[in-house]
Amino acid sequence: MSSLMSPPKRPGMHARQISSSSFAEAFDVARSKLAELGVEEETSTAASPSLSSIDSDASDGGIDTDSISSTSTCPASPITAPISPILNEDVADNFAFAFDIDGVLIRGGRPIPEAIEAMKVLNGENEFGIKVPYIFLTNGGGKFETERCRDLSRQLEIEVSPGQFICGHTPMREFANRYGTVLVVGGEGETCRDVAESYGFRDVITPGDILKANAHTAPFRKLTAAEHKNSRDLLADGGKMSDIVVEAVFVFADSRDWAGDLQIILDIAQSKGGRLETRSETFDEGPPIYFSHNDVLWSSAHEHARLGMGALRRIVETVFEDTSGGRKLRTHAFGKPQVSTFEFATRLLQQWRATQHGMQESEPPATVYFVGDTPESDIRGTNAMDAKSKNEWYSILVKTGVYQDGTEPRYKPRRLVDTVLDAVNHGIRREMAKARSRKSTSGRLLPLDDAALKVLSEGRTPNFVSKAGPFSDP
Ligand SMILES: [Mg+2]
Repeated sequence: MSSLMSPPKRPGMHARQISSSSFAEAFDVARSKLAELGVEEETSTAASPSLSSIDSDASDGGIDTDSISSTSTCPASPITAPISPILNEDVADNFAFAFDIDGVLIRGGRPIPEAIEAMKVLNGENEFGIKVPYIFLTNGGGKFETERCRDLSRQLEIEVSPGQFICGHTPMREFANRYGTVLVVGGEGETCRDVAESYGFRDVITPGDILKANAHTAPFRKLTAAEHKNSRDLLADGGKMSDIVVEAVFVFADSRDWAGDLQIILDIAQSKGGRLETRSETFDEGPPIYFSHNDVLWSSAHEHARLGMGALRRIVETVFEDTSGGRKLRTHAFGKPQVSTFEFATRLLQQWRATQHGMQESEPPATVYFVGDTPESDIRGTNAMDAKSKNEWYSILVKTGVYQDGTEPRYKPRRLVDTVLDAVNHGIRREMAKARSRKSTSGRLLPLDDAALKVLSEGRTPNFVSKAGPFSDP
């Protein structure tokens, strides 16, 4: 049996602020009927998506197949501490949610009000009394995953584990053993160096290290006393800058000094094989350059979306061309909308459902609802994953972030809603309608009256305060 709502008998868990006792009774009746419905539900036969074929969409400069195919079959788990499975609870076992963060759950460091309610709904405070597994998939970064999870836990009033969290640079850990000396760019202070070292990168240098060794590198950028102190001394052993060979550049997080970082990235891109302070005559000898994502815009506290890492990436490529006789530079980006990032998310979901909810790790959920605010990354990537994967990836666009209501999104979502709460309610009700449809085609009696299920199947909101019960059609 694979049930949305097993076992049929469940303890009371509904904590929504509703005072009507008649509603509570109607709710219990409806819930037990739905439990009966779930008993007949089909077992998901969706197979794990193929990991062998990696998205190489290069229209925005996709990840080259060479660079990731050897790592994609042995995912590194971001799960740092196993969590005891919680058994005997009512957990949806054939669908799950994945959320973008900025513009969906958080904006300008504060939670979007409906996000807190949406998390409660996923954690069982819904009309069906079920819990729904979920993960977070953000292009943002610049902090340890554990630290970002602590922030998110506080903001959303839930416990968020690194086992359900992927940020822009998380997949970069799979490259730690491939390169020796790397340049790590972006973020506050020394944090990204620390994060890279925690991933296993062995020799990390930063733009600050290069400026400390040669202040003329970026003439208008002066290191503060603290930056100077914290930066590594690259010449400590009496060597020269040209003794240092950068094997790859990783932009982990948004640059805090676009001009200085642009200069240093370009210098390395135009060097002889990554050797500092050299210049290639052919401009085709530079090491690979990876960006943790490609978002040109992101949703912050400002009224209008702000420039993100994708903008720096375009500048790097454009200025490289302008300063190397028209030679093209091809950089690489992780993050959404790369399908490889969604495949990484699928593996994380499977692990999370197994460790947190005691499910079979080999089975991905039949449907993953992805909720995002940016058509170019969230919706594009979800739709591309859906086209490729055996399981369903269902894109939902919200109006609380980058997407502007009334405009035509460049990539069309399956559903457009106001907030993340509407997205969560829509997904859960769609699943209930699917379960009902399966029941209906099996020729058995329907456990709920047609009016109630019509509301669900149309994705409308049942009237919670109606005396007629939770599924009344307003
Ligand atoms: Mg966003």
